Amino acid sequence: MKIFITKKIPQKGIDLLKSAGHDISIHDSSTPLSETELIKASQQADYVLNGGMQKFDANFFQNCPNLKALSLMSVGYDNVDISAATQHGIPVSNTPGILSGATADVAFLLMLSVSRKAFFNHKRILQGEWKGFDPTANLGVELNNKTLGIYGLGRIGFEFARKAKAAYNMEIIYYNRSRNEEAEQILGARYVNFDDLLTRSDVLSIHAALTAETKNRFDKNTFTRMKNSAILVNTARGGLVNELDLTEALQTGQLWGAGLDVTDPEPMDPKNPLLTMENVCILPHIGSATVETRDNMALMAASNVLAAIKGEKMPQIINKEVYQ
Ligand code: NAP
Repeated sequence: MKIFITKKIPQKGIDLLKSAGHDISIHDSSTPLSETELIKASQQADYVLNGGMQKFDANFFQNCPNLKALSLMSVGYDNVDISAATQHGIPVSNTPGILSGATADVAFLLMLSVSRKAFFNHKRILQGEWKGFDPTANLGVELNNKTLGIYGLGRIGFEFARKAKAAYNMEIIYYNRSRNEEAEQILGARYVNFDDLLTRSDVLSIHAALTAETKNRFDKNTFTRMKNSAILVNTARGGLVNELDLTEALQTGQLWGAGLDVTDPEPMDPKNPLLTMENVCILPHIGSATVETRDNMALMAASNVLAAIKGEKMPQIINKEVYQ
């Protein structure tokens, strides 16, 4: 079978596909494919494994009649028109669970870095501004016994809440569309309505998927409801936060700080004012970027392709209804 991989993935995933005797082509470049290039390369393939942030819209599925399945090396699938894939009979799979620990670590890293102004102070050293010890300068805030609000307490939110509770005895509150009873039992997490999440959180961390419902969920109106001392953390998708409103909220002191692993757009413009703010830490979408996690994601994405080739259901199928 012909398999097209849209960006170089860890070798373990490629080796698994090769050992099964398949014909593999890889777009091995840092430049993403244009829509036309993606369609052209995918038209030659039976299966596509997406290792990058390519978009798969209705036009893509319309123009790739030979395609039999799409495997994503990510848990998020906001880059795929799932209903168009289903309409064309294409199963789409992702890599849930195995990246939760690594991504929760980045949420933790951002929370702690913002609370201690770590990135800003590092930049000051590089700029020659470390003049000596000052008892009244560089003051951060502590996290002990504070309230951590989770928007979207699923796999990653749970891992982050678990770490934050263990490290700082943080009280966990959360808002989902449905209750997470496991988190309530294990972490003592308390379900609250969205407004309570905004008004009570000392740290508010975003973990819900980007959908039409969650797009721009965090904007001027929500920031106005939050504490002036609050820290916003986003490791989900940049589109959940209105970045201009966030910038204004930080500039005016409406919010205390923000830590972002995801931005809108990506990559972020290096001139973006958020990059120079004292209480802001930005990372370039590295949530799952550890050797172990990326190896496991590549293996899982490759295994999904192999299952589809054998005529089996893809184990991590997103659009189950495609099999009905
Ligand atoms: P998950 O287990 O599905 O958790 C998502 C949670 O969000 C669920 O508990 C869900 O609960 C809640 N949710 C969904 N829609 C909501 C809404 N409209 N309002 C409130 N809550 C809502 O997903 P996950 O594995 O934790 O991953 C979460 C997201 O993280 C992914 O979608 C992806 O975009 C992002 N991610 C980023 C990185 C990175 O590198 N930074 C890495 C991995 C994942 P209900 O269904 O009950 O509402």
